[in-house]
Amino acid sequence: MEQVVIIGSGPAGYTAAIYAARAGYEPLVIAGSVTAGGNLINTTEVENYPGFPEGVMGPELMERMATQAQRFGARVLFDDVNQVALRGPVKTVRTLGGEVFETAVVIAATGASYRELGLESEKRLGGRGVSYCATCDGFFFRDKEIIVVGGGDSAMEEAVFLTKFASKITVVHRRGELRASRIMAERALAHPKIAFAWHSVVSQVHGESTVTGVTLRDIRDNTERQIDVAGVFVAIGHAPNSELFRDQLELDSNGYVIVHGPPSPDEPGLARHQATSLPGVFACGDVVDRTYRQAITAAGSGAQAALDAQEYLEGMAADAALAAATI
Ligand code: NAP
Repeated sequence: MEQVVIIGSGPAGYTAAIYAARAGYEPLVIAGSVTAGGNLINTTEVENYPGFPEGVMGPELMERMATQAQRFGARVLFDDVNQVALRGPVKTVRTLGGEVFETAVVIAATGASYRELGLESEKRLGGRGVSYCATCDGFFFRDKEIIVVGGGDSAMEEAVFLTKFASKITVVHRRGELRASRIMAERALAHPKIAFAWHSVVSQVHGESTVTGVTLRDIRDNTERQIDVAGVFVAIGHAPNSELFRDQLELDSNGYVIVHGPPSPDEPGLARHQATSLPGVFACGDVVDRTYRQAITAAGSGAQAALDAQEYLEGMAADAALAAATI
């Protein structure tokens, strides 16, 4: 029987593991088979994670977190969870690899996945010119013209990164102003290789075996124009990976796992910030966070989830000791 099983291995999962391991619970991190390390694995340089004044590459940051958790006794399993039973004092976690774990605590740190445009042509040409990861696929677009869809930090980061390879990048954004933070926006706006198609959406991706172009629609007057490009990078945000918990935990209308906020002075019982609707189940990181979605806030909530879990386990141990003493 495990004491703490952590599902997910982004900054939230590994930080929860570091805290739970240092508290002596020898947590098991089920890290994912292909998604281990979470979204930072697909990022280039992280410039805003405290403690790295020169910046740190996303994959290196995640490797360091994993090493730190293992140093204190966390175990990491590279497998995917496909079923959980979270009600009652003993929870069951099953993996695609056929393992079954019983545990007192589950910490859900499953993160969020990229959003798709929702076009049939996007699906058909996925991996053949349509990509969701500039660091993974940018190399294939050397001296080619491409587009990046989105107006947030991810789109700006991808566009600037892709200037290393592509000859020209057009950022396609549905509004007339960017959502991205000022520093990221300024970098992209000032770059000579980056152009902007404002108030525009992709209505069609063209190509048989690979992408040859896109049709852009101006949403103000519905006029359409076609441009020849070899690549389409989609960076329009993320949706929470909460499917696993759908029938068991309370989720909000967008699928984020609901956790208790800061305690109200009138409701001392809600003091565990990362507690979900079920006792012994805690959630942290992007699967609960529709607002901040930063590596550092995910890590912070991972620490909170582990501390909440510790309090819960100590409560269970005290109850068991009391019951034994009474007998
Ligand atoms: P985001 O901030 O939610 O931005 C998504 C962008 O995609 C928005 O511009 C949005 O348009 C657009 N969009 C959404 N759905 C669309 C659709 N169906 N069709 C066309 N456009 C669509 O997501 P993000 O850029 O992935 O960033 C997520 C979080 O991670 C943010 O908090 C961000 O600050 C953080 N982040 C930080 C860094 C960094 O600091 N290095 C790097 C990457 C991400 P509207 O603007 O019109 O809504």
